[in-house]
Amino acid sequence: MPNRLIRGVAVSPGIVVGPVLVVRWELPPVPERTIASGDVTRELKRLHEALDWATERVQKMRERAEERTGPDEARIFDAQLMMLEDEDVVGGVERLIRENRFTAERAFEFKMLEWRGLWSSQENSTLRDRLADLADVEVRVIGHLMDLPERDMFDVRPDSPVVVVARDLTPSLTLQMDRTAVLGIACEQGTRTSHAAILAHSLGIPAVMGLQGVLERVKSGDRVVVDGWAGTLQVKPTAAEVAAADSRDRQRRDLDIELVAGARQPAVTPDGATVLVRANLDVPEELAAAQRCGADGVGLLRTEFLIVGRNRMPTEDEQATLYRRVGESFGGRDVVIRTYDIGGDKFPAAFRTPLEANPFLGWRAIRVCLDEPKVFRPQIRAVLRAAAHAPIKLMIPLVTRVEEVEATRELLDKEARALRRAGVEAASAVPVGVMVETPAAAVIADRFAEVADFMSVGTNDLTQYTLAVDRSNARLAARFSPLHPAVLRLLRDIQAVGAAAGREVSVCGEMASDPAAVVLLIGLGYRVLSVASPSLPLVKWLVRRISVGEAAGCAAAALAARTPDDAGACAREALSGHIDLRLLDPSARLPG
Ligand code: PEP
Ligand code: MG
Repeated sequence: MPNRLIRGVAVSPGIVVGPVLVVRWELPPVPERTIASGDVTRELKRLHEALDWATERVQKMRERAEERTGPDEARIFDAQLMMLEDEDVVGGVERLIRENRFTAERAFEFKMLEWRGLWSSQENSTLRDRLADLADVEVRVIGHLMDLPERDMFDVRPDSPVVVVARDLTPSLTLQMDRTAVLGIACEQGTRTSHAAILAHSLGIPAVMGLQGVLERVKSGDRVVVDGWAGTLQVKPTAAEVAAADSRDRQRRDLDIELVAGARQPAVTPDGATVLVRANLDVPEELAAAQRCGADGVGLLRTEFLIVGRNRMPTEDEQATLYRRVGESFGGRDVVIRTYDIGGDKFPAAFRTPLEANPFLGWRAIRVCLDEPKVFRPQIRAVLRAAAHAPIKLMIPLVTRVEEVEATRELLDKEARALRRAGVEAASAVPVGVMVETPAAAVIADRFAEVADFMSVGTNDLTQYTLAVDRSNARLAARFSPLHPAVLRLLRDIQAVGAAAGREVSVCGEMASDPAAVVLLIGLGYRVLSVASPSLPLVKWLVRRISVGEAAGCAAAALAARTPDDAGACAREALSGHIDLRLLDPSARLPG
């Protein structure tokens, strides 16, 4: 049966069985027809009907998003509404119909092509969210004109849930997923740390990515098993395979009941070490889940959702309100707000970033913020304002130079003074931390410990940059291993210099939710982990079972290992004394 099992990367846990819905955003070729001059009026009428219809559809989606996720996420659709009434689009398409005698669909396609080209020439071709918005509008309008079946994610009926199979998913597309309608997600592209994957995880939808060739192997209606623990997709499973998946799922759910019961209790190892397990939040709608899952505060609030897929930047007031709300939600526990990590794989719509050959090595994160005070200043001020009410800390991503921390501190001081002068309620200072996620920051972590109040290791990027493995390249997914001895040595050193300087050092990359890595991180001395909310209860459960002594032995063995597999072996063996590893990964070999 090997060809019915496609291996990918497990990005969001859970096992589901269901029929496939292939989601494609490509349209069939639009016929190259022209119309007779007498048909122009009729064609214009068709165009306007299609635009009205599409506007109504997008507005409905917007309302739905507002109900499900709140006003922030609903704004994602504003860009599409603007496109649908844009004078250049509407007037231009009308002209193509009138003057070139194009059919409405051909004229619209032509216009969209022009826009795509325009965005590229304005160095905007890497703004994936914008291009996805464009594709979304195009599919909707042309699809209607060509009388094609509608393909909105929102039109997936809750009474016929499906497994969505797609080439790739943008963050905004993932945000639209309705858990009652979407049983699971299987994508040809993407990896554990791509943002669509992180969102799927946070939304609690089982998902597997990096499934090469999946679109050639399945069609809509095929039954599949998505195993979000193992990272596999089983095509057309036999009854026995479905039964095995069901039984694994049942065992796993039984375990989950136990996990949930203990989620709100502190995580203390059998030999008495407390490990704080905080939540990573990507969107505000995850707040409730983080509280439910017993988060000991927020270790990473990614703020990119405020700008990705939107056509305007968030105001200072809007941010201050949101940061305060998050800050006040964890009963006095720390909430770490990360400044914008623009660039890399997170592309803003409202803010133009240049086309770059290597965006991950480019104008990203703190580099952008320090160069663009109009972007950074409102965020800094909002954090200071929120910090007057809650224990908020500020964290800077992608630092490579201590000057970046110093410049951020200067800006904070300046804005705190300005707020005070203006009589606005705000903190006079906030703790400033750095993400250690570049080899440079890791190697000079001692220097960063001098200028920062705390450090958090972003193992997604640290792994990417250390191993020179693009975190979003599915072809390289197997090489993306945070357990690589090179990454482990950096993790050891960062923890050591942080502890020597009396700084809190945490890990907030996805690695912190991998059970074997949890053992190793505790063994390396980490006492603060930050993970996506669905992983929180399991991480706490594991902490309660592995003693620091045992974990330290595993970490020593891992540091001495030659390969990532060897590095994980000892930790897996330790775990196997407490849990059937096949529940975490059915293909796992039991030690011994
Ligand atoms: C990381 O790089 O590990 C991290 C937590 O940040 P992000 O995934 O948002 O880049
Ligand atoms: Mg990062």
